[in-house]
Amino acid sequence: MKGYAMKKIGSTGWLEKEIPTIGPNDALVRPTAVSPCTSDIHTVWAGALGERTDMILGHEAVGVVEEVGELVTDFKKGDRVLVAAITPDWNSVEAQKGFPMHSGGMLAGWKFSNFKDGVFAEYFHVNDADGNLAHIPDEVDDISAVMLCDMMPTGFHGVELADIKFGETVLVVGIGPVGLMAVAGAKLRGASEIYAVGSRPNCIEIAKEYGATHIINYKNGTIEEQVMALTNGEGVDKVIVAGGDNDTFITAVKVMKPGGIVGNVNYLGEGEYLRIPRVEWGCGMGHKTIAGGLMPGGRDRLEKLLAMVKIGRVDPSKLVTHKFDGFEHIEEALYLMKDKPSDLIKPVVIMK
Ligand code: NDP
Ligand code: ZN
Repeated sequence: MKGYAMKKIGSTGWLEKEIPTIGPNDALVRPTAVSPCTSDIHTVWAGALGERTDMILGHEAVGVVEEVGELVTDFKKGDRVLVAAITPDWNSVEAQKGFPMHSGGMLAGWKFSNFKDGVFAEYFHVNDADGNLAHIPDEVDDISAVMLCDMMPTGFHGVELADIKFGETVLVVGIGPVGLMAVAGAKLRGASEIYAVGSRPNCIEIAKEYGATHIINYKNGTIEEQVMALTNGEGVDKVIVAGGDNDTFITAVKVMKPGGIVGNVNYLGEGEYLRIPRVEWGCGMGHKTIAGGLMPGGRDRLEKLLAMVKIGRVDPSKLVTHKFDGFEHIEEALYLMKDKPSDLIKPVVIMK
């Protein structure tokens, strides 16, 4: 089969590989729509996972089941399925403790284009198929569904980590596709004011549509000064971090009221330590929590998110700014994600 791969750090290209073989609990899926992710860019060009050779990229795909192992009960050949970016081993001790994303070691629930070939191929392998595949309702098209592999569950996980409650004021740092989903999730959780940080006009427009009440352009002065000015010096209840850098935590702790929680889903790629401002952290006694997490995968979560899309609670297709017809366009789509032109939020490649 054909796949689009990371050849080594800083280099990508097409290659031929054997179609993956499946075990008794696994499935083989033929993707019908895929989307490159900022994480693919970190993997190839920042060497985020370390060196990888000829590893097929991609972890966001919807598709059709081609084959299932003999112990798979709920899925069969021909089923239309959504596959989460994170595909845990559901019988692991970590999953039993409530942290499936860390099954087999920290962050090891992330298998695609990490420990095994990813989804930018004619076929891909899914472990624990009954737990990691989700049935897609007929009402939800591939374009919307593929935003539920990673963007919606990750943005929503930021909301869960920050434990947004009715009426709370929330700062969302970063309004790429992940942050935009965090804005949508914060609104659904009942936030009052939502301050969204970004600069690309397209993202700002969609942030408003998803529920941002105030926009902060981090290029027009510090986020801290702007938040404090907009909140009469009070700051916000919660912060969700889906962009920025290591020093974003300094800002987050400074602008947050006591009792606040920072929910981070941003990937921190550099440096050895993060800094926390001592005084604004209440000299260690401010009840300000920093929580960070890889999104949990899982069929139950995905099918619930799909139900929200089906009923019209949220429209993730607004994230999709660039559509390509044909697998041969995957390279173009990946490089778009790398270069992030100002009109881009997410590209999708239709494989059919
Ligand atoms: P994008 O690059 O599309 O968006 C990043 C956002 O951060 C943009 O809005 C950008 O603004 C903003 N930003 C950039 N620099 C700063 C700064 N200095 N201060 C404040 N804001 C800034 O990323 P994605 O939405 O695709 O992904 C967000 C992060 O989530 C990535 O790090 C990604 O790796 C990570 N991720 C984490 C997952 C998880 O499970 N935890 C899963 C998937 C992704 P501008 O408008 O100027 O571009
Ligand atoms: Zn992703």
